[in-house]
Amino acid sequence: MIEIKDKKDCCGCHACASICAHHAITMQADAEGFLYPTVNKDACTNCGLCEQACPVIHQSSPRQTLKVYAARSYDEDLRRQSSSGGIFTLLAEAVIREGGVVFGAKFDEEWSVIHVWTENIDGLADFRGSKYVQSTIGDTYREAKKFLQQGRKVLFTGTPCQIAGLKRFLRKDYDNLLTVDVVCHGVPSPFVWQKYLDEMCPNGKIADISFRDKTNGWSKYGFRLRFSAIKESCLLQPSSENVFMNSFLSRLSLRPSCHSCPCKGGRSGSDLSIADFWGIEKYNSKFADNKGTSAILVHTNKGKELLDKTDALKEEHPLEQFKREVTTYYRSVEAHPRRSEFFERLDTTPLRELVDDYAPKKKPARKSLLKRIVHRIIPNDFRIIWDKPGQTCNRLWSYLDTIGWAIRTQNKVYVLFWDKDIKYFDHLRNNPYIKFPLYSKTLIKWLGDARYQKFLTWIFANRFLNRFYARTTSEKFVYSWQQRASKEYFPYVMDEIRKLYAPNQNIVAEVKSVMERYRREDYFIIGVHIRRGDYKTFEGGKYYFELDEYKQHMQALCEVYKDKKVCFAISTNEKIDHGFFEGLEICQTANATAIHDLYMLTQCDRIIGPLSTFSRWASFYGKVPLCFISKGNVIETDEAFSVITDFYHFADGTEIVNLTDKHTHA
Ligand SMILES: Cc1cc2nc3c(=O)[nH]c(=O)nc-3n(C[C@H](O)[C@H](O)[C@H](O)COP(=O)(O)OP(=O)(O)OC[C@H]3O[C@@H](n4cnc5c(N)ncnc54)[C@H](O)[C@@H]3O)c2cc1C
Ligand code: SF4
Ligand code: SF4
Ligand code: SF4
Repeated sequence: MIEIKDKKDCCGCHACASICAHHAITMQADAEGFLYPTVNKDACTNCGLCEQACPVIHQSSPRQTLKVYAARSYDEDLRRQSSSGGIFTLLAEAVIREGGVVFGAKFDEEWSVIHVWTENIDGLADFRGSKYVQSTIGDTYREAKKFLQQGRKVLFTGTPCQIAGLKRFLRKDYDNLLTVDVVCHGVPSPFVWQKYLDEMCPNGKIADISFRDKTNGWSKYGFRLRFSAIKESCLLQPSSENVFMNSFLSRLSLRPSCHSCPCKGGRSGSDLSIADFWGIEKYNSKFADNKGTSAILVHTNKGKELLDKTDALKEEHPLEQFKREVTTYYRSVEAHPRRSEFFERLDTTPLRELVDDYAPKKKPARKSLLKRIVHRIIPNDFRIIWDKPGQTCNRLWSYLDTIGWAIRTQNKVYVLFWDKDIKYFDHLRNNPYIKFPLYSKTLIKWLGDARYQKFLTWIFANRFLNRFYARTTSEKFVYSWQQRASKEYFPYVMDEIRKLYAPNQNIVAEVKSVMERYRREDYFIIGVHIRRGDYKTFEGGKYYFELDEYKQHMQALCEVYKDKKVCFAISTNEKIDHGFFEGLEICQTANATAIHDLYMLTQCDRIIGPLSTFSRWASFYGKVPLCFISKGNVIETDEAFSVITDFYHFADGTEIVNLTDKHTHA
């Protein structure tokens, strides 16, 4: 019968509990939050199976490594979501394609980490990315055995001790079993993890967590926590500044067994081991892109066959290089000297305080005065937007993702040219992320906006410099119009972006006061974007509509919403006699600027108008369902409307480049 005398002698693998036919063993958390077996002596028959299954009592000898590879997926998105080169997913996909089942670690609804299985490629997304918390094996060893006995291919992934536990639990080799372990620094306590989450977000509204965010590159990975799908606000910290990661990396919160790990040096019995190939750029420039490279150790022919089925960039490397760079494969890390004090105070002291006491952040070396001045002027990283992408809304869209980048990485974007309407966006001009270094109210007053910008164009956007910007490979020079569809950063910081893009207070107040009356009287307000001037000739006039056509659409909408009181908020740059829309309730802001009109659309219940970046922005910013009108039929149902989620997409997935009838209503 299993008995744990010293905590370091149990890695919590569940092999003993899984093998006991009498269900005499339950895994229970100790005061540190790690699971250990507890035997119900009344149910135990003293058969000894649990001891035989224990990978700590029966440790295997280290194995020869057949080959070592540096490898990565060709799929950039996949690599971004994975901790290193995305190799786990490629291996797992190969198994699923052959009808197999994959076991791995994922977050459950409480953001605890558990082992589960999937037979779908989509299900692999949950396993992607390292979770630095011990995952609970639960019933998965027994489930894996069932699949193996049915003859299905099984890929079991996990920490080396989880693989060793599985192997001892199974007690025989299965041809259809493949095992992959991740090289393991150690696993932190689930209790510390829950405490961190409770302190960070007491209301528990978490949308997404990544321990290995690559926004600032693979080598400077960060901890990211997105608070809620609705609020869309996000915490992104360098690992060294995150309290939980600090407790993990400084070895304060690891399981005792991790300090004398029974499975180092290839003793887990896995077919393949995967790790971060740190330092790879020194040996192989093909992998020097700082987006993540995996190291793969091949231990068996079965493992090599599986690896050969993946479509990855992989190159063989000498074992010596791996040994030099990935020392945790061979050696256990030492416990923090004050680990026990840390756990003793855990119940009563906030985590931040404990980490500050035992693993304080190292103070960066003091910079010289000159360096500090230079750093104030030129931050660590920055982007310069050098193009002039058309009118106001084109610019708002173009800057969007680069500003998202600046907010997420706490850096700055410099915009060389501005739109004349920038004066209506106080927050955009005054914030820590976006700067208009050449914008000067005095010079604009003195020379006039157009003349001053012409002068700047001559200096900063002349033929010579434009050629330089366009040809440079440096990502610091941003051709923003080409970035309009990018959505790498902004979706995570929409709260902040909405604040930056809010128009000035007086515009907000004026628009609200006009709409207030209609809101009070329960009107359903439909924004109508009427754009005719330049659309008469643009693209052969295909987006140009006569006022009659606008009116027909509006009348049809009264039918669609016949159970509501409908009012139309007209947004246009021409003077339109309201008498023309006789019979329809019209609202419009007096002396409106384009920004009054734009903001008014963001406050409506629905928006219609011809295809344009203007109404597209209003729908996106205000989360207002939009439908583009086109020649021919009018809108007949509310389903024609959907909110814009990025430059080219509606929330229901319709693409704007290939607009179907759905949101154009031809
Ligand atoms: C706790 C832990 C410590 C690690 N320590 C090191 C280290 O010191 N040095 C090093 O080079 N690499 C370490 N790794 C491995 C590394 O971070 C990557 O997981 C590995 O390189 C695979 O990356 P990938 O891009 O191929 O796939 P990814 O998609 O990043 O990997 C996903 C795989 O990790 C498994 N996994 C994720 N979290 C857990 C968990 N909590 N328990 C068990 N399995 C889990 C998934 O089941 C899946 O198999 C560690 C991983 C974990 C989970
Ligand atoms: S000795 Fe046998 S019956 Fe007793 S706990 Fe272990 S496996 Fe179960
Ligand atoms: S290491 Fe695994 S098998 Fe051994 S006692 Fe702990 S949980 Fe049981
Ligand atoms: S360090 Fe060893 S004992 Fe700890 S989780 Fe990793 S494999 Fe298991």
